[in-house]
Amino acid sequence: MTQFNDLNLDPKVLKAIAEAGYETPTPIQAGAIPPALEGRDVLGIAQTGTGKTASFTLPMITLLGRGRARARMPRSLVLCPTRELAAQVAENFDTYAKHTKLTKALLIGGVSFKEQDALIDKGVDVLIATPGRLLDHFERGKLLLTGVQIMVVDEADRMLDMGFIPDIERIFGLTPFTRQTLFFSATMAPEIERITNTFLSNPEKIEVARAATTGENIKQGVVKFAPSRKDRESAEKRALLRRLIDAEGEACTNAIIFCNRKMDVDIVAKSLKKYGYNAEPIHGDLDQSQRTRTLEGFRSGDVTILVASDVAARGLDVPSVSHVFNFDVPSHAEDYVHRIGRTGRAGRKGTAVMICSPRDEKNLEDVERLVQSQIPRLDNPLGTTAADETPDEAEERPRRGRSRRVERNAPKAAERDAKAKPEQSKPEQSKAEQPKAEQPKAETVTEVQQPRPAPAPEAKAEQPRAQQRGRSGRDRRRDDADEQVVGMGEDVPAFILKSFKERRAG
Ligand code: AMP
Repeated sequence: MTQFNDLNLDPKVLKAIAEAGYETPTPIQAGAIPPALEGRDVLGIAQTGTGKTASFTLPMITLLGRGRARARMPRSLVLCPTRELAAQVAENFDTYAKHTKLTKALLIGGVSFKEQDALIDKGVDVLIATPGRLLDHFERGKLLLTGVQIMVVDEADRMLDMGFIPDIERIFGLTPFTRQTLFFSATMAPEIERITNTFLSNPEKIEVARAATTGENIKQGVVKFAPSRKDRESAEKRALLRRLIDAEGEACTNAIIFCNRKMDVDIVAKSLKKYGYNAEPIHGDLDQSQRTRTLEGFRSGDVTILVASDVAARGLDVPSVSHVFNFDVPSHAEDYVHRIGRTGRAGRKGTAVMICSPRDEKNLEDVERLVQSQIPRLDNPLGTTAADETPDEAEERPRRGRSRRVERNAPKAAERDAKAKPEQSKPEQSKAEQPKAEQPKAETVTEVQQPRPAPAPEAKAEQPRAQQRGRSGRDRRRDDADEQVVGMGEDVPAFILKSFKERRAG
């Protein structure tokens, strides 16, 4: 097996790697570092989680160690599709270059031009940027790309999805023809192939297995979900999500929840918060300082659940994410690979659970075709919702037949649900915060009954919900009646109630 010492890296880089605790190079590192150090172009087909960032950063630092930075003319350029990914590459650079004197600048939106200009004016060895921001600087005449000796394009497939390919082509054109190019993409779409044929010269091609999907360290599952009624779909789906999180119990130390739509990212995060979960949203419409704060909080453990869009979480490197929940099946099958690759990193174990609505079936087929295996079906903890079922019944069902794992987690859920309770009466809450099916009735079930082990029908009759809330006898009778004789109105004659109870008990 190749060792880092065999790779001809600068001793200062080797020292930093040892300090980072890396023992052996990952396949993409073993494959990409030797040709990169020889000055050759590299085409790496690898996704995040494979160690690809170090596969270009380590040889870059080694090669750049031999020269000096010049004002306004960075010697190398790393292009990333998102601010987060760029910030992460910058962090990696700091880790691996800590024993060298190399300098870097991070050019991303949301950070003032002034600070960035000052760095560029001084001269930097490595410029890490998103394409739009880089071109903004170029157009303001503050930057020359003619000194770029090494250019890295990271996550090219995402650049394609985000419409950055024309920018990338333009940036290629601004750098010297003699530059060395290290190009990374998780997939080779025809457009990506065209770019590599145009701008790379006889590259060494290294393709690494989709570790995230084939690796046994990620336990995957999909839960089929059919709403009881169209207008209750989102609330029921969020209830299902909470059950799925709770079902993981203590094993779920932190999680990323992916939603296909930004709007859902906000709604799901708000709803989870309302139920006492420590959740924050992250997507492209939030301002940069908030995104950075949220990510830092998630990395440090202050935030335990990150609700994210694909773009915002792209390339996010938090080595110990225990769970990924897909609130929707992604509409681009490849996103599934990226999403679940947020967990099970660096050889750790991870769990990825996905919710599949009937309308997601086609996307699920695409995902399974891509990963070439069937994702195991998991039982829906809410049961199979029938078309004529009310939301209350949907909420109650698991109470009658909950899995043991959920019950094990019950005290946690109780804490959260108790926390959720006072918030429900807040007058300033928006509609999104109080979705219809999550309002009083459905929540009554969750608040009061979920934490207790499922009672037998008799015990339930003896201890109705109203008693626990300290309400009047009349109210209690009404609740009892609601539970036992649905649709009989407020004044259920006692004899009817009695006969129902007796029949049930028998
Ligand atoms: P990346 O694919 O670059 O996002 O890296 C995924 C994770 O693997 C990061 O947390 C790295 O710190 C970690 N990593 C990279 N290379 C190695 C290695 N050779 N040994 C152990 N961990 C690594």
